[in-house]
Amino acid sequence: MKNILFIWAFFFCGVMTNFAQTIAFVGANVIPMDEERVLENQTVIVKNGVIAEIGGRIKIPRDAQIVDGKGKYLIPGLVDMHTHLLSDGDDYPDSIAEDELKVMIANGVTTIRLMIGTPEQLVLRRKSARGEIIAPTIYAASPHLTGKEQGNNFVVKTDDEAREAVRKSKSAGYDFIKITTFIDAKVYEAAIDEASKQNIRVVGHADARYVGLERALKAKQQIEHLDGYLEAVLADDAPSKNSISDLYIYDPKNWESLDYVDEKKIAEIAKATVAANPFVNPTQHFMKNTFGTPRSEESIRAQPDFKFYPAKVQESFINFHKKHRLFQIPAEKRARWTEIRNKIIKAIYDAGGKIMTGSDTPEFLWLYGFTMHREMKALSDAGLSNYAVLEAATKNAAMFFGTLKTVGTIEKGKRADLILLEANPLENISNTERRAGVMLKGKYYAQTEMNKWLDEIAPKISGSMIEKTEKK
Ligand SMILES: [Zn+2]
Repeated sequence: MKNILFIWAFFFCGVMTNFAQTIAFVGANVIPMDEERVLENQTVIVKNGVIAEIGGRIKIPRDAQIVDGKGKYLIPGLVDMHTHLLSDGDDYPDSIAEDELKVMIANGVTTIRLMIGTPEQLVLRRKSARGEIIAPTIYAASPHLTGKEQGNNFVVKTDDEAREAVRKSKSAGYDFIKITTFIDAKVYEAAIDEASKQNIRVVGHADARYVGLERALKAKQQIEHLDGYLEAVLADDAPSKNSISDLYIYDPKNWESLDYVDEKKIAEIAKATVAANPFVNPTQHFMKNTFGTPRSEESIRAQPDFKFYPAKVQESFINFHKKHRLFQIPAEKRARWTEIRNKIIKAIYDAGGKIMTGSDTPEFLWLYGFTMHREMKALSDAGLSNYAVLEAATKNAAMFFGTLKTVGTIEKGKRADLILLEANPLENISNTERRAGVMLKGKYYAQTEMNKWLDEIAPKISGSMIEKTEKK
């Protein structure tokens, strides 16, 4: 028995050595993200998954695999702070999950936070941590706490139910408590209190009708989607105070509130946000380009990620989009809504907030991976500098997770999650879409190779939908 163990250990080490080869990026312009600067013409040596050396004149180890970085730009891997998997639900098999995660890697996303937990995600998180699958580093929030049944959830209607949901989530090993909608204020506060006792952070929605921004800030919750902000900036004497965030935007009548926004309130709310919890994840692309900006059928069909969705899903969304009253709201009104959101984001940033990037995919035919770059563009359109957008997508997330010592910038000793770009993202943020390759924990994948993965994965995912037999 001992011998067998020894052989196993030996074999395992062999595999590990092979995996952890030395790689040298030669001649690359490094955007280290420790401050706003570019280190030109650098050699970056990666050993055992970690950045071993950076400098202008460095001896390249003889066994190193060389990656030509001349004229290219090296940035840290991107973090998607709000995503889900198609396989989280019942419509797709769990077997596509690993392919879903590869789509993210092929788009430069090397860390994710899955925002509605499932037991399967905890298995994926472990496999990813062990390097058994090609996948981002995974954080998994709990099944969501909600006041109404919505799937993958804890329905919490009493304090005790809320406390139990928090305790169960903590002991199951989830990284955060996820809150969504329709939770009574008192029950919400019980969840917050229990989470503090259990030492687990609360993230997610701040339902404007039930919880409200003020209460969520008091709880120091990390807020997604700018929930509650559009309501908090309404004039005190506004004749309409209907909610225009979260699920309430689906009712066109609620949009009347938009005429009563008092912009003078924005700076004050931004300051209060930073004092409570500076980490804000507006998921601005999703909001803006799903609800704020008219989206033509032609543009939907032209998206590079469109082909990943089953024909049935494509058609039903296009129909929904054509028919839903929400999409009949006048374009100027929707543009105004986006403009207010942009101003709130910029004000939070200016007040010292740590904006983060979340794609809120894969709903509404926006797929993970691809949509990270749309989110970065949306934050740039909101008035953040390209450097600030890169911070949002890299370093700020590491600060939020408390892992900045080991990841999130390009410095000696840090985990080698990197992206090699053909052009400078500080000049144009969309240059994050012009990738030469992605390094995941020290392993380098050329974009040409990853594009082949995408071509193979698209039909696998789009063909995987589970046909449901009609209920009798
Ligand atoms: Zn979500």
